[in-house]
Amino acid sequence: MICHPFIVLCSSILTGLWVIGHECGHHAFSDYQLIDDVVGFVLHSALYTPYFSWKYSHRSHHANTNSLDNDEVYIPKRKSKIAIYSKLLNNPPGRVFTLVFRLTLGFPLYLLTNISGKKYGRFANHFDPLSPIFTERERIQVVISDIGILAVLYATKLLVEAKGVAWVTSMYLIPVLGVHMFFVLITYLHHTHLSLPHYDSTEWTWIRGALSTIDRDFGFLNRVFHDITHTHVLHHLISYIPHYHAKEARDAIKPVLGEFYKIDRTPIFKAMWREAKECIYIEPDEDSEHKGTYWYHKM
Ligand SMILES: [Zn+2]
Repeated sequence: MICHPFIVLCSSILTGLWVIGHECGHHAFSDYQLIDDVVGFVLHSALYTPYFSWKYSHRSHHANTNSLDNDEVYIPKRKSKIAIYSKLLNNPPGRVFTLVFRLTLGFPLYLLTNISGKKYGRFANHFDPLSPIFTERERIQVVISDIGILAVLYATKLLVEAKGVAWVTSMYLIPVLGVHMFFVLITYLHHTHLSLPHYDSTEWTWIRGALSTIDRDFGFLNRVFHDITHTHVLHHLISYIPHYHAKEARDAIKPVLGEFYKIDRTPIFKAMWREAKECIYIEPDEDSEHKGTYWYHKM
């Protein structure tokens, strides 16, 4: 059902709205912080995303991109830390299971349990104001984010009473699940590629991390997603450029970045399958003097 053209269309358009919410979190949507936060709060809450909580953890991701010690998400494992189930799933059916699991449950599990996130030494999630993800002054806004999600859950309950479970599921809940799937797919592909190194504290610098991301080509969906898909390198360098100037800015910095600008135009489903097969764990390049630089390997 989730592949029905109407559902895909709804999810794509809603993902475009989610992208606007992300932009609000970067104070890139308007000149006024209040407008950004109100628009972002409404859009993200309606799409089951805790606006301020995610805004702050996402800010930390931007500040620590590809740092093995401090990045907030998509932290790959060393070979010695690979779990037994990863080895069991290293085959085509296991890869299908992993991709479906990642796309459907990846975002809610990240919000609820910090899966694949930074190790805080204790349980961390996006709904607990006392979570170690947040600083003291951010805690009240985590509560506001929670109130936004609770309000949308209550609105969903009222909608179910008015329209029925089947209508709400097909017209709202499945399209929102589609948003989460698109969001995970886009960001997974931005941060997972054989050409993208990760760094430990001996080698990491902000600029190295920011340049260790890659643009992707989602075809006609690039436009629906407000070009977030193929302007991600730029976004990590200058995150306050709004989507309606992103392509122009990307084209301006490409000649300056030269070989440091990366884009892979492999068709998305092929790329998703290839990265799930090739980017399993990371190890440092033993022949290099840079022992703190890690590269993806397949099993
Ligand atoms: Zn961002």
